Amino acid sequence: MNNEELNNSRIYSNEELKLITRAKDMNIDISFTLLEKNICNSGSNGVCCRQCLMGPCNTIYGKRKGICGADADTVVARNLLMMVGRGVSAHASHALHMASSLLKTAQSKTSYKIKDSEKLLGIAKKIRVDTTNGIENTAIQVASVAIRDILSDAKSMIFAKSYFPTMTCGTIPGSVGKELLEAGHETSMGTMADPTSLIQHAARLGILFHQELDLEFLIKIK
Ligand code: SF4
Repeated sequence: MNNEELNNSRIYSNEELKLITRAKDMNIDISFTLLEKNICNSGSNGVCCRQCLMGPCNTIYGKRKGICGADADTVVARNLLMMVGRGVSAHASHALHMASSLLKTAQSKTSYKIKDSEKLLGIAKKIRVDTTNGIENTAIQVASVAIRDILSDAKSMIFAKSYFPTMTCGTIPGSVGKELLEAGHETSMGTMADPTSLIQHAARLGILFHQELDLEFLIKIK
């Protein structure tokens, strides 16, 4: 797919088209206009690899492999996993801050207070935490599970199991740290070459993202 075909494949709303036209009239660069200028065919198709210093390698489907032997399918899957992993790092880092703040708030170590007890109890029930010993105790347990899910080397994530209770072993992600460590390993040169496994790993990482949404807005400044 060349640049023109790629641009034509994007669908803009009427509002976006108005914004793009106005920005062009004013000679202002916005993300939409920068997109038109910056499209790289290899990058857009995900076939360019820069995982090691032997590269960069510009692979072509069925025709040209990277110097290490990685084909285009492996390179595309590896690039996708890396992008998803980076996004998950950002969200998990935020979730860790929220869980740590919740824990300290429940221990009266911050100037915040628990804002949404109902939501907290809902999460507690979902992840099967005891709610009978008061809201602070519940908050301590919920925050502790969240922190364990992010930082430990657990083989399955308790929050993720609560979102998808019927999922079988192997599809539920391990802790964020474990999954990201393995993603870093698998995407390095000469390790994982199976695109299906790499994409499955990206899907597992995608599930982790929900934890941050759950923990949002549980506390507020007093
Ligand atoms: S990992 Fe392989 S395909 Fe990627 S840059 Fe290095 S040699 Fe090239």
